[in-house]
Amino acid sequence: MENNLKSIEAILPPPHFHMVGDGFRVHNFFPSQPKIGMTGMSPFFLLDYGSKWVVPPSDTPRGVGVHPHRGFETVTIAYHGKVAHHDSTGKSGVIGEGDVQWMTAGAGVLHKEYHEEEFSKKGGLLQMVQLWVNLPSKYKMTPAKYQAIESKNMKKVVLDDGESSVDLIAGDYKGMKGPAFTFSKVDLFNANLIRGAKAGFSFEKNFNTGMLVIEGEVKINNLKVVPENHFVFFSHDGEDILVEAVEKSVVLILSGEPIHEPISSYGPFVMNTEAEISQAYEDFNNGKFGYLED
Ligand code: MN
Repeated sequence: MENNLKSIEAILPPPHFHMVGDGFRVHNFFPSQPKIGMTGMSPFFLLDYGSKWVVPPSDTPRGVGVHPHRGFETVTIAYHGKVAHHDSTGKSGVIGEGDVQWMTAGAGVLHKEYHEEEFSKKGGLLQMVQLWVNLPSKYKMTPAKYQAIESKNMKKVVLDDGESSVDLIAGDYKGMKGPAFTFSKVDLFNANLIRGAKAGFSFEKNFNTGMLVIEGEVKINNLKVVPENHFVFFSHDGEDILVEAVEKSVVLILSGEPIHEPISSYGPFVMNTEAEISQAYEDFNNGKFGYLED
């Protein structure tokens, strides 16, 4: 069989964490790490990974207060713990364990993200991911919207061992399709693998592709062992990836068609030009993102 493997460009250990508000202790794999930068994983612009953190009980939920976004989508995945959100379109909800919230900020939204009240009172294990998915220029000003994707609504592809599965958030795998609507081609899966499980994936050569080991340890392409909390950044030299679980593992798999457009980004905005960033600040200061109580 001809080898058409996507080789590994880099295996990145988690960089030192920083706090987002007082509730999210995250490792930024990109864009802050130069190996990937703003474009290496396009259309994914940012990956903040909240590795396992035992949050002490608090009567006042920790989190991040009202802030705007424009020009992209935020995708929040909860592995442990519960995150609550409220936004200026009047929507609110709770992202529970295994759930995903896909928020299209588009033209603009104000939101706040906090630990869910009961979870906050009891405290407990929190582990989550937030991805920022860039929008192509023509969709940057699309109206804001939400997709609440509960674990039970994800398509689950059961693997040959009968116990492992690949849960589809977005994109296609083995003839099944994940529920998320996306504005460009994006594959986003969670592989839940029993010890010794093998899973194969194929993504187009030019797609930017990475994997984050959420739990356990996996071997990639029969070659490299990747420990928990590490990110695998793939090259563009092939299509196929082999994943073997050295122990019971959970792996977040992301791949997408790059958006070849200029990026101008500042704070909570991801646009194409500096003028659009200035406009975003002006619109925000003039209340055009709506209203949300603190
Ligand atoms: Mn936010």
